[in-house]
Amino acid sequence: MKLSIIGVGYVGLVTGVCFANLGIEVLCADNDEKKIDLLNNGGIPIYEPGLEELVKKCIANGRLAFTSDIKKAVKTSEVIFICVGTPPRDDGSADLSEIEKVSKVIAENMDSYKLVVEKSTVPVETGEWVKKTINTFKSKNCEFDAASNPEFLREGSAIEDFMKPDRIVIGVESKKAEKILKELYGPLDTKIVVTNIKGAEIIKHASNSFLATKISFINALSNICDKTGADINAVAEGVGLDKRINKHFLKAGVGFGGSCFPKDLKAFIHISETLGHPFDMLKEVEKINEMQKDIVVRKAIDMLWNIKDKTIAIWGLAFKPNTDDIRSSPAIDIIESLLKEGAKIKAFDPAAMEKAKNRLGEKIIYCKDVYETAEDADCIILMTEWNEFKEVNWNKIKNIMAQCAVLDGRNIYDSEKLKELGFKYMGMGRR
Ligand code: NAD
Repeated sequence: MKLSIIGVGYVGLVTGVCFANLGIEVLCADNDEKKIDLLNNGGIPIYEPGLEELVKKCIANGRLAFTSDIKKAVKTSEVIFICVGTPPRDDGSADLSEIEKVSKVIAENMDSYKLVVEKSTVPVETGEWVKKTINTFKSKNCEFDAASNPEFLREGSAIEDFMKPDRIVIGVESKKAEKILKELYGPLDTKIVVTNIKGAEIIKHASNSFLATKISFINALSNICDKTGADINAVAEGVGLDKRINKHFLKAGVGFGGSCFPKDLKAFIHISETLGHPFDMLKEVEKINEMQKDIVVRKAIDMLWNIKDKTIAIWGLAFKPNTDDIRSSPAIDIIESLLKEGAKIKAFDPAAMEKAKNRLGEKIIYCKDVYETAEDADCIILMTEWNEFKEVNWNKIKNIMAQCAVLDGRNIYDSEKLKELGFKYMGMGRR
């Protein structure tokens, strides 16, 4: 079986290389020629642990190739995974124009049976539009099936998540499509949930909305802890040990970000309104998340009194550890707010410096490590819980800062130890 991936981003590249690693011949296509040139010359456009080695291995054994010729990718494969971006539009709805464009190219170039699989995150009923588009534009009378196979991988552990998923969801409308997808995923030996296309589309939006809700829930709770003196880490442990709730996604922090939760939440709210059943609870989830970033800025003011002309060291720019992705990263929004208050920002991230430079330009100072960032700073704000920030020499840091203050945006530090060393400490829902 030959497989094509259209859209070679975080999802498409990982999906392509993982299927190639499972023994399938995969052609990855993208309309970004620079990206394809880079990949064809041995480069990797994103940071993801283990990805570079796996891509090299699969290219070497001839199972993985890259092209900017989308038509060729359609013609040479039986199964086509659509992995293009579905960014938010101003009204919160998902921009599905690239999904439509790809569907049209598939229609115009298919010359035999194709299974067209949406892997991009899309609102319910997108599958209907994919089918309509292919039926409208197909030039030859070939059969095809549409299917939905939402992706649940997390950046930073994407390969592991793809190879060992909690479940695989497939939305199909024919036995043939079901058989092909089950065969493709067979080697992973994981529970496969089979439903129709609309069910699969809703499962993806529902999963991300639920996880975002858990994060906003614990963040709102952290603010109650702040007001009362309770420790959110202890509260989260006490709540999370209940198996009906579980401990995952109960870590208070600076808010959720990334290319999925904020966008998918907006899209789910929008589609629910379009369908006449507004999911208003999710609006509150969004509101809490926006508020959380303001709370970080307010805490910085509480620590430093006046922010204007103070130097703030930012540890972490990516929206989570082990990725270079800064899309909707809370760190970026918080930096913008601190800059508006007149602060001077020095920042370091183990992987996201290039992307941050493209986004923030000359507005901030980029440093090579935690120590350079902390030099002459009035406060450190931990934004992303990279391992690099967990083990630092606090004695050294104490001696190079202008004022010893730590705002622990991810609640990872031993507050007592820092206070003993003479640091002012604030966490998110703990002191
Ligand atoms: P991305 O922006 O990293 O990659 C998208 C790729 O599609 C880009 O390389 C772009 O050049 C390419 N592309 C766009 N239009 C194209 C076209 N017409 N023809 C060919 N290529 C085209 O996006 P991503 O993070 O990989 O996300 C892709 C989809 O998967 C989104 O719907 C996203 O919501 C979903 N998703 C993302 C993640 C994640 O962690 N990033 C996880 C699960 C699902």
